[in-house]
This record gives sequence, structure tokens and C-alpha cells, in this order.
Amino acid sequence: MQLPIDPETIKGFMPPNEGEKLFFAAKARAPHGPCLEIGSYCGKSAVYIGAACKAAGGTLFTIDHHRGSEETQPGWDYHDPDTWDDAAGAMDTLPFLRNTLRRAGLEQTIVAMVGQSQTIARHWTTPLSFLFIDGGHSREEAHGDWHAWKDKLMPGGWLAIHDVFPNPEDGGRPPFEIYEMALASGFADVVAEGSLRVLEKC
Ligand code: SAH
Ligand code: MG
Repeated sequence: MQLPIDPETIKGFMPPNEGEKLFFAAKARAPHGPCLEIGSYCGKSAVYIGAACKAAGGTLFTIDHHRGSEETQPGWDYHDPDTWDDAAGAMDTLPFLRNTLRRAGLEQTIVAMVGQSQTIARHWTTPLSFLFIDGGHSREEAHGDWHAWKDKLMPGGWLAIHDVFPNPEDGGRPPFEIYEMALASGFADVVAEGSLRVLEKC
């Protein structure tokens, strides 16, 4: 795996062992059509997927409203004060994402889409070869992303889901629930690493 910059210099929540699996999954799929990520944050996972897309001459679309998830708001464990924009009175991670894409030389490969994932889904018609769901982890948002995006994957396309915790003591349920819904609707396991799951749409 060759990465343009060290992912550990990017804020975010993608451990190297899971990032490597993400890279190889995206590399396998990128020649077949566009890849799409829900939850850009500061671009850490996007660098793994985007590096694979660049090698294959492919494209990654990455979606985020950049106002942060519940667990990254002030007062929560995952809040990073650097991401707070005083003027907006809200988080803003878009400048961090842009900086990451520029540093990584991935501005021609990764298209940043700023908005609500389900709003974008309503207008998205291009079949995806690879879809990575790592956006809002509340029940409403995770389930909503699954329902809004699952039919956008082409047959044979791969779906990756992050923060899948079979044991409730390890973390929240919604990503695990959508993993189970994917299995129940005919997706098949391809890779499991840490809390990352990759499935194929059969
Ligand atoms: N994939 C990133 C981490 C993503 S954190 C990494 O591995 O580094 C989750 C992100 O999802 C947050 O930045 C948050 O702003 C975004 N998000 C949450 N709900 C969203 C929604 N409904 N639409 C768009 N983005 C959303
Ligand atoms: Mg995650």
C-alpha cells in the first residue's frame, strides 16, 4: 500500500489496520465505477480510499455537512476544540479536509460534497462501485444512510461500514444494525478488520 502522506498526521478515527483494508477494498473496486464515502471529517479515511482511486484512475466522492456528529460536539469524548469555528458558533471541519486533500495531492481524485447525505442521495443516480458508510451514528442517521444509499450500489459493488460492534459493550448499535440489514438483504461478507466490515452486493 502506498499513501501520499502519513494518515497519522490527519485528525480522525480510522486505525491503520482498518485503513489498509479500506485501501485494498477500494483498489479492487475503483476500476469499475465511482467510490463514495459518507463522513469525510478531516479526510483520514478519504486518503486511504482516494489513494486507491488515484492508482486506478478512479474518483472518490466524499460527503459531509462538516458540522460534526453528536459524539464530536463540545462536551463529548471525541470533540476536538481545533474544529470549533467561533464565528459560525459551530464545528467546521471543511478547512481540515481541504488541507488534507491538498497535502495528499488528491484534489483531482477526491470530490468533496458539502451537505446532508440523505439530501444528496435523493438526487444521486450514478451506480457506485464502492460505498463507505461512516457518517452519523445515531439510529436515525445510520439507518437513514443505509436506506438512502443501498440501491445506489451496482451489482457486485462493495459496501463498507465502519464502527460495527457486535458486542454492545464496545460501542453503539446502529452501524452493527445496518451491517445486519445488509446481510439479511443478500449482501455477503468480504472482509472484517476491527470494526470495519466490507460486504459485496450479490
Ligand atoms: N470517516 C472519517 C470519520 C467520519 S466522522 C474518518 O475515518 O476519519 C463522521 C462524520 O459524519 C462527521 O464529520 C459528521 O459531520 C458527518 N455527518 C454526520 N451526519 C451526517 C449527515 N447526515 N450528512 C453528512 N455528514 C454527516
Ligand atoms: Mg468511524
